[in-house]
Amino acid sequence: SDHLDVERIREDFPILDREFDGTPLVYLDNGATSQKPDQVIDAISEYYRTYNANVHRGLHHLSQEASIAYEEAHDTVADFIGAEGREEIVFTKNTTESENLVAYAWGLRELGPGDEVVLTEMEHHASLVTWQQICERTGAEDKYIRIDDEGRLDMDHARELITDDTQMVSAVHVSNTLGTINPVSELADIAHDHDAYIFVDGAQSVPTRPVDVQAIDADFLAFSGHKMCGPTGSGVLYGKRHLLEEMEPFLYGGDMIEKVTFEESRWNELPWKFEAGTPNIAQGIGLAEACDYLDDIGMESIARHENELAQYALERFAEFDDVETFGPPVGEKRGGLVSFNIDSVHAHDLSSIINDYAVAIRAGDHCTQPLHDKLGVAATARASFYIYNTREEIDVLIDAIDDARQIFG
Ligand code: PMP
Repeated sequence: SDHLDVERIREDFPILDREFDGTPLVYLDNGATSQKPDQVIDAISEYYRTYNANVHRGLHHLSQEASIAYEEAHDTVADFIGAEGREEIVFTKNTTESENLVAYAWGLRELGPGDEVVLTEMEHHASLVTWQQICERTGAEDKYIRIDDEGRLDMDHARELITDDTQMVSAVHVSNTLGTINPVSELADIAHDHDAYIFVDGAQSVPTRPVDVQAIDADFLAFSGHKMCGPTGSGVLYGKRHLLEEMEPFLYGGDMIEKVTFEESRWNELPWKFEAGTPNIAQGIGLAEACDYLDDIGMESIARHENELAQYALERFAEFDDVETFGPPVGEKRGGLVSFNIDSVHAHDLSSIINDYAVAIRAGDHCTQPLHDKLGVAATARASFYIYNTREEIDVLIDAIDDARQIFG
């Protein structure tokens, strides 16, 4: 269907019934983490209530059931992002761990002096700090693709920066601060023309729009289950099979081995080679349930809903001349979030005042400090939307902001 049945969807999320001093919660902090539907909560609860056991190694009934559910969760996630199969899906605890996995397992071995890693100025610290540190340790150099005044990547600059010295391009798909949707498939083509790999940070894109790793031709892609109706502790690293096969493990220990002697060890098949120790079993099962839940709603419809809410918020903000918004202008397709500042009120004061209206937004640097430096602000307020948010909730936000403005004169 074209439009989300938001009233129906809201019924699945028990937390949305919360009130604070009689004021209903307006949850607009989905960029940080999403709420969870009954379907996901029930799947996790059912696992603990009826088939909790360790996976992979047990021959007893419970372990078999848990193993099948946990392993099949990889298949579900593979389908969700268009991967070829479970071999390409490594469960991690979040996007951050997925970035570190590739940086440590691939970057530390493959990078050296003369090599370059190209990122964007809008990278989240999860990729920026990780690649910056790996470059420091290996003698490689990190470079940053510029953004223009409206928060778009300068693709001419991208074509300048990505050269035969480039080994890895790491780019955020949808910016968690600007809402910009980056042309990652174009970046992938440029990277591949120079025999470089591309790592796509899908933390804000996989939850909110159809993402197909093969259509993008991503070599690696990372995302977090907790931002897409799944539990905390569920993250994913997608990697092309041949790359994961060539890579050495990141963490050593149980479950990731095939054969161990006092002299040496051989690694398990994919993806288990990268899942050392007892994994987040319940979280993996919950993530698969979240993928099914979102699939039923339809990712195209979700993307449209996100864009509509962002456009509406931009239009409402435009009514005030003391509000500055960041990222692409109204009318340009974007992710479902808007960062903004008001002349007279600091973002932190703003978010704490509007908390009195039970409106939850985020204030700060959103883990993009270098981007905030570039924008010339220390902090921004950010409203971020998801499948259960409405225009009426944005109206509540705008009214709360109006009141905050009166208080601060
Ligand atoms: N990248 C982006 C674009 C994000 O928005 C986030 C979450 N704020 C992350 C990476 C890191 O995700 P996590 O904290 O789940 O590792």
